[in-house]
Amino acid sequence: MMAALCAARRGRSVLLLEKNRQPGLKILISGGGRCNLTTTRSGADLEAQYGAVRGRFLRHALRSFPPQALRELVEAAGLPLREEDLEKLFPVSQSARDVRDLFVRLCQEAGVALRTGCPVREVVQAAGPRRFAVRTVDGMVVSDSVVLATGGLSYPKTGATGDGYAMAAAFGHGLVPTVPALAPLWLETPWLRELQGIVLHGVQIAVLDPAGRILLNRTRPILITHRGLSGPAPMDLAGDLEELHGAGRVSFDFAPGQSREELDRMLQAAAAAHGARAVVGALPEHLPERLRAALVALVGAAGPLAALTRVQRQGLVAALKDLRLPVPKSLGFDHAEVTRGGVPLAEVDPRTMQSRRVPGLFVCGELLDVDGPIGGFNFQAAFATGRLAGLTA
Ligand SMILES: Cc1cc2nc3c(=O)[nH]c(=O)nc-3n(C[C@H](O)[C@H](O)[C@H](O)COP(=O)(O)OP(=O)(O)OC[C@H]3O[C@@H](n4cnc5c(N)ncnc54)[C@H](O)[C@@H]3O)c2cc1C
Repeated sequence: MMAALCAARRGRSVLLLEKNRQPGLKILISGGGRCNLTTTRSGADLEAQYGAVRGRFLRHALRSFPPQALRELVEAAGLPLREEDLEKLFPVSQSARDVRDLFVRLCQEAGVALRTGCPVREVVQAAGPRRFAVRTVDGMVVSDSVVLATGGLSYPKTGATGDGYAMAAAFGHGLVPTVPALAPLWLETPWLRELQGIVLHGVQIAVLDPAGRILLNRTRPILITHRGLSGPAPMDLAGDLEELHGAGRVSFDFAPGQSREELDRMLQAAAAAHGARAVVGALPEHLPERLRAALVALVGAAGPLAALTRVQRQGLVAALKDLRLPVPKSLGFDHAEVTRGGVPLAEVDPRTMQSRRVPGLFVCGELLDVDGPIGGFNFQAAFATGRLAGLTA
């Protein structure tokens, strides 16, 4: 919609082909129905959220259309935004539908012809002045330019079924292997699953490669579920874990503000002062009681503090600071908010989103090998790259 809007505002004649009966289904379900449209982060900090390579590719898109510009666009069109926790911007109305409807309205006002319920089957290069022929269920359309904006593979019920990968491949584009990202994590550890319903705050979780190196860590809320881990921190780790193809592990640091030595001294002091009390009561207070009890049971230290042996104490400190658990996978594309992988960035001009292989062909949004963490970064990248495509197509 952003690409169509920008092209139409330049006076181009634009036809937006959408396979669903309505456009922007993913906007409707985003942010729990409230749409975390973008972020208040900016500059190099914003780019870094996408990782070094993807951030560099996005630099021009994000600098020429930063989150503030997206905010101004929607606010000028009558939809005020407000900032919430973690620098997230949501509509004041708390309605994702308002965001979707606004872009549909802007497209209509700019003269975009929207054809819904119209899946594109194939795009081919055509002979003659019009460079492309687009085959839809309703017949053929010819055009000077084509913008592929079909999204990725996540939440296929919203229409994201990966059609664009084949369309890009037909023009000689490669494909960076796709994995689910921003998805809840699958854990087989029974004792942890038994803690379902618990939300952890002030706990750090990291994804480790097989050599034990930290690839990414997050200190954000963690929700323990009957299948594993959900919430902002675990979901942010999903893409990196999936890329390890079953060999990934996570490490919990349940007390990131305290060193091992401090925790050890704290336990020793508690044992000296209140030897008759249960060990559970001496663990950091920000941890829910059920979790504390589970950790104590894990290292076999249930009982009074006075009976805590040195080995048990060290075991407890190790469990608090670096509890490692295998995480073979996430819950997959059906539950992933975004797709990692896609059309290789080296094959697309970052200043225009034009294919380096086929003049007149553009690729934008999640179809590209671009993904960001939770926090409005995925919409921001989609809108900013869509805009660039629309300014040249
Ligand atoms: C549950 C959920 C919550 C999310 N919440 C947020 C959030 O709060 N903030 C955020 O920044 N990001 C969020 N995201 C991610 C965000 O929705 C996507 O990154 C973004 O929508 C990508 O935009 P896009 O235009 O590239 O692709 P999409 O939004 O997926 O749009 C692609 C469109 O192309 C259509 N299409 C596909 N194939 C064809 C075809 N062959 N012919 C015609 N049309 C076709 C699809 O029907 C769809 O309408 C969320 C995602 C999910 C699944």
